[in-house]
Amino acid sequence: MTAAPTTDGVLVDRYGRVARDLRVSLTDKCNLRCTYCMPAEGLPWLAGPQLLTDDEIVRLIRVAVERLGVTEVRFTGGEPLIRPGLVGIVAAVAGLTPRPRVSLTTNGIGLHRLAPALRDAGLDRVNVSLDTLDRDRFHTLTRRDRLADVLAGLAGAAAAGLTPVKVNSVLMRGVNSDEAPALLRFALDHGYELRFIEQMPLDAQHGWDRATMVTADEILASLAGEFTLTPDPDERGAAPAETWLVDGGPAKVGVIASVTRPFCGDCDRTRLTADGQVRNCLFATEESDLRDALRAGADDADLARRWRTATRGKRAGHGIDDPTFLQPTRPMSAIGG
Ligand code: SAM
Repeated sequence: MTAAPTTDGVLVDRYGRVARDLRVSLTDKCNLRCTYCMPAEGLPWLAGPQLLTDDEIVRLIRVAVERLGVTEVRFTGGEPLIRPGLVGIVAAVAGLTPRPRVSLTTNGIGLHRLAPALRDAGLDRVNVSLDTLDRDRFHTLTRRDRLADVLAGLAGAAAAGLTPVKVNSVLMRGVNSDEAPALLRFALDHGYELRFIEQMPLDAQHGWDRATMVTADEILASLAGEFTLTPDPDERGAAPAETWLVDGGPAKVGVIASVTRPFCGDCDRTRLTADGQVRNCLFATEESDLRDALRAGADDADLARRWRTATRGKRAGHGIDDPTFLQPTRPMSAIGG
């Protein structure tokens, strides 16, 4: 007789979902100012003492991996490449037992230079955000003239073997909504895996509008004008992206339809902000502190217990469609996308 799988110790919520995928924000600062994310002048950044130190970040991730069953660690921000201790943090996390898979979500600026060191430290792969291939549009959209740096970063990641290199694109009506086929062609030509992300109500300026956002159906219709898409026969599991084979495969394209096709029932994510708060969801309005507990001398068992308790409060869904939905106070850049 085989033993029933145990959920002792893992991050399990009231609905039986187990969180194995940890997203860690390393900073709330960013060197771009994407219009759908941040105002031009930036935001009131977290003050130095509020931020977890490199050692504190590694300690909390170690607790998650050793005691809570986390198997995937994804660094994000803000822009994680601007955190000075990034390479050392990656090395420490890749050295944990059992070894988690370690990845990074980045805007790609500086990745060309950092990719070999990150690979040597143990980084497995990267997601690079790129919403347009047009230099002027890129400048308008991100308020910075850095398209060439992002393209170099993508190439550097591929050359360093940080594969599969995934590209994340957000489409906005009247801005870059005509670019879906061009972005897919670019990804196919370079061997990158493209995923479109539906724009979500997470901008600091509260400019998101359900009525005008570009939906997964529209993105797929636009791609269908130039490509033949067939549903991916591979199991989706807890992956946020729904994927399609492009022109019969093996290349694929994904759509993360958080708004119009939510996948909360399969969510396996837990999040740690740069100031040490556990969040169960991008859209959570509650957070649970680990930083002050850690600084007050909590031991690993206590930190693990706090994280488990926080997870039990995870809601069934993000509730964007609920009439009582409230956008979280923290914008995406301070949560970690
Ligand atoms: N700076 C890194 C980057 O650019 O990937 C990591 C942080 S960024 C917040 C992570 C991802 O969130 C990016 O792909 C970005 O396009 C996406 N994002 C930001 N605001 C968003 C929104 N309101 N809706 C959907 N995606 C958003």
